[in-house]
Amino acid sequence: MRTLLLRSLFARPVTIAAPSAENAALTEVGHALEGRIRRLYGRSLTIREVDAGSCNGCELEIHALNNAVYDCERFGLRFAASPRHCDVLMVTGPVTRNMKVALERTYAATPDPKWVVAVGDCACGCGVFEDSYAVIGAVDKVVPVDLHVKGCPPRPIELLRGLVALVDKATAKG
Ligand code: SF4
Repeated sequence: MRTLLLRSLFARPVTIAAPSAENAALTEVGHALEGRIRRLYGRSLTIREVDAGSCNGCELEIHALNNAVYDCERFGLRFAASPRHCDVLMVTGPVTRNMKVALERTYAATPDPKWVVAVGDCACGCGVFEDSYAVIGAVDKVVPVDLHVKGCPPRPIELLRGLVALVDKATAKG
């Protein structure tokens, strides 16, 4: 017991070092997104996150956008609880049978113009849940998807790069 206590007192933390808030790549992509959001929306881009059946790994990365390191509100990104206040739906996980109707209703409740981003390998193509009896399929089997961000899970900076590509696509369409 004493050995265990001493070891836990002097052991180094097992977590990896946090990314720096001054990360140049993050700042660059963040400001690129901010400029596009201002041009297209005037102030902010609002996102509703929908977990359609993920393992929660993708959620952790999406939530990281709001933490003290990424702090994406400074670039004009906001998350809202109601789809009625949103521009973008970020959907994670393959769509499970019991989330199909909820996803369809959330999509219907989001005002036009709206965009759907499938986040993670499961949302893009079922990933590790392929052939599960509980799964209907990838997100685009249930609602139209405008952008796929692959990864298991994708990192927050990849989500930001995806949003830059989404806004560029929306601007190109006029
Ligand atoms: S892509 Fe990976 S992290 Fe995301 S829900 Fe699927 S298994 Fe989990």
